[in-house]
Amino acid sequence: MTTSPRRYHITTFGCQMNKADSERMAGILEDMGFEWSEDPNQANVILYNTCTIRDNAEQKVYSYLGRQAKRKHEQPDLTLIVAGCVAQQEGEALLRRVPELDLVMGPQHANRLKDLLESVLDGNQVVATEAVHIIEDITKPRRDSSVTAWVNVIYGCNERCTYCVVPNVRGVEQSRTPEAIRAEMVELGKQGYKEITLLGQNIDAYGRDLPGTTPEGRHLHTLTDLLYYVHDVPGIERLRFATSHPRYFTERLIKACAELPKVCEHFHIPFQSGDNEILKAMSRGYTHEKYRRIIDTVRRYMPDASISADAIVGFPGETEAQFENTLQLVEDIGFDLLNTAAYSPRPGTPAALWDNQLSEEVKSDRLQRLNHLVNLKAAERSQRYLGRIEEVLVEDQNLKDKTQVMGRTGGNRLTFFTGDINELKGQLVKVKITEVRPFSLTGEPVEVRQAITA
Ligand code: SF4
Repeated sequence: MTTSPRRYHITTFGCQMNKADSERMAGILEDMGFEWSEDPNQANVILYNTCTIRDNAEQKVYSYLGRQAKRKHEQPDLTLIVAGCVAQQEGEALLRRVPELDLVMGPQHANRLKDLLESVLDGNQVVATEAVHIIEDITKPRRDSSVTAWVNVIYGCNERCTYCVVPNVRGVEQSRTPEAIRAEMVELGKQGYKEITLLGQNIDAYGRDLPGTTPEGRHLHTLTDLLYYVHDVPGIERLRFATSHPRYFTERLIKACAELPKVCEHFHIPFQSGDNEILKAMSRGYTHEKYRRIIDTVRRYMPDASISADAIVGFPGETEAQFENTLQLVEDIGFDLLNTAAYSPRPGTPAALWDNQLSEEVKSDRLQRLNHLVNLKAAERSQRYLGRIEEVLVEDQNLKDKTQVMGRTGGNRLTFFTGDINELKGQLVKVKITEVRPFSLTGEPVEVRQAITA
């Protein structure tokens, strides 16, 4: 064992769930006495928290690993860990590919890092990918922000979208109890956090696996009930949640969001395709008509709500006409932000085995055309902010212009304005918008809102 302080470095790939897992694993390592090292080459423990949603995400980790595996030959006490979705997907095979690895652990094991690492430090090479019930973790996550925080509410996913690797690598749905979620939020409120994002791969499934039904036969615990239950947590000014599923997105939830002042009017509802045949082949469980009705209902209750989504182009068998149905939906709805991706066949998913795969040329051509439309529509949508007063939660300094601070509106629009981060960090500031761009705004500060108590 080295006498100098033991250091760790975590590199995180992929989604918010992975970022939240990395924060918790960092908290566990600091609890064990490790210190954060900004430079991975100064760390004794290297952890890659990986993503396998698309092939290029998976390939990224291998190049990083290669470098550290070489380093391990000169520094045998270096500990190499692969966590997250590639670890779950590959398991033992990763040890064959990178024999220098010490620990391969799936996302369900994030909270067990202490035990697993102690076994490694006892000289074992460990693979932890068996399905487990995720234990509540009391360790304090080492959070990247001191203003906004992720709070997991449900792990895993029981859906079977034919392109998606998530259910295979994150397992079945496991909801946390409302009490555990509220306790974590109360703690965050005491620590001065102002905004919380409730997280779930399919957050509308929250509570389905928890016991209890209402007299009407509905699940006792749902996302809507959770929002009412945690809305008055002291100190928390804003609530967000992601990721929604159109199949389960209810008017009851929309009504609650309109009623509850702390719930931000921003909804992330992936639609994936605008064509019903493709939606059927994806096993998404809704039609483009149903999706449009959801957005209409959101806008009926909250006309200014921000809508973001995810879309996949080039799904196996997708014809030009079916792709144009996706373009038409994007044209009609006008998203504030749309994450777009070309279909990438993933191991263990049904669609990857289908023989009507499209060429990379067709996929990248469609991706380009969709991105062009997305930018046009986002620029159109941004126009509504010009001249308005928007409330911005200040999160950080603008790294490109140190005279400015940055934060987001309730509608999740990144906004920049002149200000001193030491004064304004964590403050809600009313900002008059003077300049708009497709995905961000600039303005002038008008007034700092005094935090409301619960
Ligand atoms: S809802 Fe579908 S796309 Fe989303 S994580 Fe579950 S299986 Fe994947």
